[in-house]
Amino acid sequence: MSELKYCQGTRCHTYLTKDRLRGSKDSKTNQTRRRSSFYYGNGNFCSLNCTNDWLDIYVDRAINHFGRLTQPKHLTAENAWVKRYDWNSNRETVYIYVNQITDERRPLTEEQFNDNNYTLNER
Ligand SMILES: [Zn+2]
Repeated sequence: MSELKYCQGTRCHTYLTKDRLRGSKDSKTNQTRRRSSFYYGNGNFCSLNCTNDWLDIYVDRAINHFGRLTQPKHLTAENAWVKRYDWNSNRETVYIYVNQITDERRPLTEEQFNDNNYTLNER
């Protein structure tokens, strides 16, 4: 059985919905949603609205804490390899590595394709 957790949205309790309305007749409150899982913000928010409410308040602090980009990142031939799969004329799955900068293609085995540690990219 999974543990219930609360939506982290800062205004979740202010959105009036039947499922948030709790309590008996004379002590009803509209509460923050509580579920075993959520679909938004890595499982922390019940909706995109709640995700955005949190981001509006905390995103600057979070970026400053974890490191704000001050220069562009570059995708180069050295780190542009992505794994792809396709089907050949015999309808067999073929695995390839494609370089998004040079468009070079190299064959991959299924084991290499499924190995999350296997990469041609420089780290
Ligand atoms: Zn919410």
